[in-house]
Amino acid sequence: MTYLAPNSIQARDIATIVHPQTNLAKHIEQGPLVIEGGQGCYVTDDNGKEYLDTAAGLWCASLGYASERLAKVAYEQMRKLGYYHLYRGTTLEPGVDLAEKLLSIAPVPMSKVLFQCSGSEANDTALKLVWYYHHAIGKPEKRKIIGRKMGYHGSTTASISASGKADMHADFGLPIPGFLHTEYPHYYRHHTDGESEEQFATRLADALEQLILREGPETCAAFIAEPVMGAGGGLTPPRTYWEKMQAVVRKYDMLFIADEVICGFGRTGNMWGCQTYDLQPDMISCAKALSAGMQPISALMVNQRLFDAMLDESRKLGNFAHGFTYAGHPVTTAVAMETLRIYEETDIIGHIRTVGPYMQKQLGSLLEHPLVGDVRGVGLLTGIELVADKATRKSFDPAIGLGAKVDKHAREHGLITRFVGDRIAFSPPLIITEAEIDAAVSRIRAALDDAYAEVRG
Ligand code: PLP
Repeated sequence: MTYLAPNSIQARDIATIVHPQTNLAKHIEQGPLVIEGGQGCYVTDDNGKEYLDTAAGLWCASLGYASERLAKVAYEQMRKLGYYHLYRGTTLEPGVDLAEKLLSIAPVPMSKVLFQCSGSEANDTALKLVWYYHHAIGKPEKRKIIGRKMGYHGSTTASISASGKADMHADFGLPIPGFLHTEYPHYYRHHTDGESEEQFATRLADALEQLILREGPETCAAFIAEPVMGAGGGLTPPRTYWEKMQAVVRKYDMLFIADEVICGFGRTGNMWGCQTYDLQPDMISCAKALSAGMQPISALMVNQRLFDAMLDESRKLGNFAHGFTYAGHPVTTAVAMETLRIYEETDIIGHIRTVGPYMQKQLGSLLEHPLVGDVRGVGLLTGIELVADKATRKSFDPAIGLGAKVDKHAREHGLITRFVGDRIAFSPPLIITEAEIDAAVSRIRAALDDAYAEVRG
């Protein structure tokens, strides 16, 4: 057990805070890492040590960790109107500005925007609307939601049920009934010998179709998916995957929700993951980089078909009975709007298209490392798979906790990474430079060397 002075932040943290996605028992023994400040792609701990953050916090600090410009917008908005809401027909100009902007840049025609504070709430809203829509069109039995194993859509009861993360369902009694999960596109790990990416994609689309047929197409309401799987380990889809999956979803008249919470706003080299993979969703959820992570805001865009059904329900029931106190909060929407202006003014997409291929190439050089079995990515997102044996693709025994070991060594080298089992998901702030990419790659290589010496030793 680490000694902590009684009044230290660490001791006070342990006495008071329950941390998300943390081993609570280990946390009491080890204490937290205290982050005190940040600038650009770096954060600083309470000892003044700097870390290059290749996870952009949680995929969201797209513009880095401090912004005079966004701070001013928040400050001015708080002085003018620090809170009001959108309930019962009230409106706020920053929200209108942002909704107009989002609809104008949407990857496919969208009709309206609903605001929330988090990705989980945006997806939760989308899931409720799936049920609402089918009620409105007279098919209330169409209720089942299909997500993917290892997909992640948030922590609220419905969003986590749509997610395919067994560790996040365990002992919560989840998923709730009516949420199903199809195979996920981890080509490197799950392809059979000699199976091409295209054949693998066909197999996964067939698996989705078989699931729908087993359940009864008349009960299957929607498919929810991330264009690139983030919390699943930074998994890019194999060739032809999306074309084939969407064909199945359309064939059975299901709605398609694209979860753009991590892909939206440039991560994949286009404004939207939907553009990178030619997706045609009915609803799009986004958050995180929407406000550069600096305000808690998410948006759900719905197409005309959805909105027409919502209108019919209002005529029938007299109200759209859904909402959040902070939906369209003026400070969050003003900061998000300014963030989108910054993306345009600085041509963030052009920047990603320059540094993205550089990052893929530099990280690709890690394939020579004895622990690295696969490196694949798109834009500024890369998944690195660690293996015990490259020839057989055999993984390390999970009890070894290789990912956690590399993470520990990475921190010693001043690097923050994101681990999912034995996969590293690289997703740095979108403003990262080539020099910072070089620094990140050399630090992760050093961490891999240390971890290799530890496991082989
Ligand atoms: N959807 C995706 C794809 C995510 O990666 C996340 C969070 O990482 C969420 C939804 C949930 O977002 P939030 O944590 O803001 O609720």
